[in-house]
Amino acid sequence: MGSIIAIDGPAGSGKSTLARSLGDVLGLHVLDTGAMYRAAALKVIYVMGKEQSGTLTEVSSDKSWSLHVAEIVKKSVIVIEDRVSLDGQDVTEEIRTDQVDGFVSFVASIPAVRKDLVSRQRQWIAMHNGGVVEGRDIGTVVCPDADLKVYLTASIEARAERRAGERATGERAKLESMIDRRDELDMNRSTGALPSLELAALAESAGRDDMIVIDSTEHDASDVLSIVLARLEKVGIHPPSTQIGYETDEI
Ligand code: C5P
Repeated sequence: MGSIIAIDGPAGSGKSTLARSLGDVLGLHVLDTGAMYRAAALKVIYVMGKEQSGTLTEVSSDKSWSLHVAEIVKKSVIVIEDRVSLDGQDVTEEIRTDQVDGFVSFVASIPAVRKDLVSRQRQWIAMHNGGVVEGRDIGTVVCPDADLKVYLTASIEARAERRAGERATGERAKLESMIDRRDELDMNRSTGALPSLELAALAESAGRDDMIVIDSTEHDASDVLSIVLARLEKVGIHPPSTQIGYETDEI
């Protein structure tokens, strides 16, 4: 198996940007597991919305509701490559709507859904011979033996600011509260919860080279990339062009 780099952290902490840069620099494939949960949530919205002949608005803590949702997800074909497809249809843009944002963490809190998607993620990693994998439970559940486990965070204000981009100030406040709600659900579910910053920092302070916690509030994307590349050197992972014995004049 090739190198595996796990990146976990809350929404808007910069995981996707870091994952893509690392993928480019190291020549590894990238898996956005959040896109997988989003596609699963979209499928549930389609199916249950149709069953209720309207737009799905209801989320229930009922056990039979969860089982029904897990069955719907199980029957979905989700492909995550440059584009995201669901049952053969391109849903790359559709998985980023406010409706999916507000619904995805409920679907992701169902243990049977997580079991199904974690198994698909492990298959993806095996098929791609490793990769850069980003999400919430990658270093804890999906690949606890990853070569490097990055926990990336930033203040809620910085995260909302990044997600809001050019949106108006009122929109920013709404976005901040949506992110806050999602953080709460993602950190307090029974399985695959995102560890708190304190817990991640505690694990890092045990002196393990294969774990790093980065607060990106005051760092831009290139700073974060440099910090991670320096740590990767420490665990013996180098960009292809700097690998020993790779110089062209040795051939
Ligand atoms: O990464 P992104 O913010 O797109 O993820 C969307 C949602 O998918 C998260 O808020 C979380 O509920 C869920 N998720 C998860 N486990 C992962 C990745 C994402 O539960 N590994």
